[in-house]
Amino acid sequence: MSKTIPAPPATAVAAIPTTIAALRKTFQSHKTRPVEWRKQQLRKLWWGLHDNEASIAAALWQDLHKSEHEALQSDGIWLKNAIIDALGDIDSWVKEVPVTADLLSKAGSPTIRKEPLGVVLIIGAYNYPFQLTIGPLLGAIAAGNCVVIKPSEISTASATVLTKIIQDSLDPDAFAVINGAIPETTTLLEQKFDKICYTGNGVVGRIVATAAAKHLTPTILELGGLNPVVITKNADIKIAARRICWGKALNAGQVCLSPDYVIVPSSKEAEFISTLQSTWQKFYPNGIKASPDYPRIVNDRHFQRIKSLIESSSGEIKIGGETDASEKFIGLTVVKVKDEHDALMKDEIFGPVLPYIVIDDLEEAIEFVNRVSDTPLALYTFTTDKKEADYILGHTRSGGATVNDTIWHGASHKLAFGGVGESGMGNYRDKFGFDAFSHHRTTVRQAGGWFEAILDARYPPYLPSKLSQYRMLLEKKPSFSRDGKARVSWFGWLLTLGGGDRKTVVVKYVATVLGLVYLKNQLDARRR
Ligand code: NAD
Repeated sequence: MSKTIPAPPATAVAAIPTTIAALRKTFQSHKTRPVEWRKQQLRKLWWGLHDNEASIAAALWQDLHKSEHEALQSDGIWLKNAIIDALGDIDSWVKEVPVTADLLSKAGSPTIRKEPLGVVLIIGAYNYPFQLTIGPLLGAIAAGNCVVIKPSEISTASATVLTKIIQDSLDPDAFAVINGAIPETTTLLEQKFDKICYTGNGVVGRIVATAAAKHLTPTILELGGLNPVVITKNADIKIAARRICWGKALNAGQVCLSPDYVIVPSSKEAEFISTLQSTWQKFYPNGIKASPDYPRIVNDRHFQRIKSLIESSSGEIKIGGETDASEKFIGLTVVKVKDEHDALMKDEIFGPVLPYIVIDDLEEAIEFVNRVSDTPLALYTFTTDKKEADYILGHTRSGGATVNDTIWHGASHKLAFGGVGESGMGNYRDKFGFDAFSHHRTTVRQAGGWFEAILDARYPPYLPSKLSQYRMLLEKKPSFSRDGKARVSWFGWLLTLGGGDRKTVVVKYVATVLGLVYLKNQLDARRR
């Protein structure tokens, strides 16, 4: 048996302001600005993760009974790949970007400079303790910030390993880990940061946003929500059930993107249930409890919370329902509910329980989704009809969406990840993470003395002739009428004849004219 990893000691509350002040001093020394320094930090972090892969897997096993397979796929290897891709692209991310501007600004060659924000705070959650802290950290490093990392105090072994990786790999002048629970986080939030990235539940999200507002600190809030799955009558139900099964079993449902409830038409209900059942048997041939691939609930509080949700439901348990407090084990459980007032439909479950409801009419299903929660973190739909999928996407909102699968839009380290409304604000990962931790500094390098003649129109005295000159040179004419309709010039109308966008039509016209000129020349040559 491997050794138990102890919890990290809590950081002394009195040391927190001093730590932040030291990081600010580092930032002000411009140490984090050179891109080569940032790359070096990322390279060292890659090695830190690589060398500690076994400890990462051991910690996740201890905290969540997470298999090595899941641990490395979603934390270890996932993060290492994200670092390699960031290192490949960072030179293009940091480039000053020229901006197309109006006539007056053009002479100043306007650009956007990508500047670091300063000292930023990243607060992680327990369910993916490495990915949810190091994931945003990559963008913050690439953008040249100093960073304070606050791991979740719930996944204790992971917090210890995470602290070791950060402290051994990164420059201590620029990066610090603060461990602890509410008192430590509260003291942290009293400090001024230049951005806070918080992952966790919405109640604490509001505490974080309120504390941040006192310092005018912008926030990225990565929260949760009730993620719906809409199965339509045009779904391939075998595929749907298998993919929902995988999405729900992942980390025993302790995933912000986990499907929270399913809407299924009556014609598909029986096949949906039987395929879920047979899939689970295939996934866990020796029984789910005995399987080393199926995680446990993180602690007793969450175990009791999920268990009492199952007990309070007035729905009918169709599959599972097994629980064992001594192991914090809850088997995959499928419950048929009657309406959205069921205990299982009130809040995000964050556990391996899947309520479903039978609704035949698609409009009614969409209404139901929007009534339960109109800004979940994820929305899933299963249909083989592309138009139907577009219709569902066009009549709902969510942080992200996957058609014909679950979790997948949030699985790649390259795609922007974030919520909307109740499920949060802002996003990160890859270039989106770099941008999230950068300030886009608009910069104009004004033209010299020769430009004064043109600038003269802006200086007092404001003579009428100057305004006329300004109007003549810069005032634009609208291409729309008072009733809001677009006006199309006869030339524009001519260009759009025959369909296609303007560019295509222009190409068609030019090709036709050139063809006619060529034909005329050929005829002339023959006549001669
Ligand atoms: P948690 O208990 O690990 O808490 C998250 C963080 O909040 C911890 O670092 C903790 O120290 C801090 N915290 C707790 N109470 C606090 C307080 N009073 N003041 C200041 N900080 C405090 O995790 P959780 O919140 O239970 O996480 C589960 C939730 O997170 C779910 O709602 C889930 O959907 C969401 N989540 C979202 C994402 C995402 O990327 N959108 C990812 C994972 C989890």
